[in-house]
Amino acid sequence: MDVFRKALDYQLARTVRAAGIYPYFREITSAQDPVVTSDGRELVMLGSNNYLGLTNDPEVKAASHAALERYGTGCAGSRLLNGTLDIHVRLEERLAAFMHREAALTFSTGFQVNLGVLSCLLDRHDTAILDALDHACIVDGARLGFGRILKFKHNDMASLDQKLAAAAPDSGKLVVVDGVFSMEGDLAPLPEIVRLSKQYGARLMVDDAHGIGVLGASGRGTAEHFGVESDVDLVMGTFSKSLAAIGGFVAGDAPVIDFIKHHARTEIFSAAPPPASIAAAAKALEIVEREPERRKQLWENTAYMKRELRALGFDTGESESPVIPIVVGEDLRTFQMVHRLHEEGVFVNCVISPAVPVGRAMVRTSYMATHTRAHLDRALDALGRVGRELGLR
Ligand code: PMP
Repeated sequence: MDVFRKALDYQLARTVRAAGIYPYFREITSAQDPVVTSDGRELVMLGSNNYLGLTNDPEVKAASHAALERYGTGCAGSRLLNGTLDIHVRLEERLAAFMHREAALTFSTGFQVNLGVLSCLLDRHDTAILDALDHACIVDGARLGFGRILKFKHNDMASLDQKLAAAAPDSGKLVVVDGVFSMEGDLAPLPEIVRLSKQYGARLMVDDAHGIGVLGASGRGTAEHFGVESDVDLVMGTFSKSLAAIGGFVAGDAPVIDFIKHHARTEIFSAAPPPASIAAAAKALEIVEREPERRKQLWENTAYMKRELRALGFDTGESESPVIPIVVGEDLRTFQMVHRLHEEGVFVNCVISPAVPVGRAMVRTSYMATHTRAHLDRALDALGRVGRELGLR
């Protein structure tokens, strides 16, 4: 049997390309702004995680540029050995202070945070209890550990209760959930999850990739939004969304962070996040703290779009965040919708299984503080037309 057989037999991308409606790896020739350029045309961007509009911000770019000039393009080694810069440590101190935690640790991507943290914490006596819609890197991180994995039905507290009861009473238990689910845009019911975790003596980790900078009065994320920060043991975040760069972090109690720092293989065997990204994230964090009006504008845009998309008759699921899906159902129709919207000047994301359950294919839309009403109305106009054309409204 040839190990390449699966690749040679792989049809889906080929079929969709041949149909002229392939939606992935589209080339963008501009910054991740509310309007982007692709194929030499301008498109309203409703597919970016640049929630606060900081990836092309002059102040963030100046900070990044200054770090590039001073420290060069890369760290040429892991944080453990030669790759730690003063700006890594300063950013970790600031992230810990911002998140009201004792300590924080940066990684080169958010994906690496979950891979490294979960795999080093979960040994063979432990059980990871995951929401069925947790992000892929949580699932993969748990799979890299030696513990048992139990999955509960998405946001279903009776199911979580059952799984916690099914874990061996003497095993170490870690519940891991997305704060904001990345495709559906709904929130984990943290107060209930906290209550059940405590009842069974489980630790709780929240992946707040889409919550930090977005939710909570100060932008500290989903736990702040629900008023349960002190009941969440570990929080991870990424720099690739509100914080305008690439990289990620985990924050929690000092001894736990210190253990992760010396055991997470994605930290100690992978090169440090580069200076330009660290400086960009640090400046973006400063702006998150200094300019709450950005978050306010983001939520105004979100409320407007949720109302208008519903008024158009779309199924927007249970979204409670700036991630608003339009549930289509079938894969082919979703490919068609994304393609037609591109033709009509709107960039949206095409989401099919395994990112969502089979039969729940969706067009994922997401919003920025820097979208103007004119951008949003332009997009709504096209969404209305294409939705009608495809019989979705
Ligand atoms: N967690 C969640 C919930 C995410 O949506 C993502 C990225 N889409 C990640 C983790 C990984 O973050 P990064 O892009 O920094 O690797």
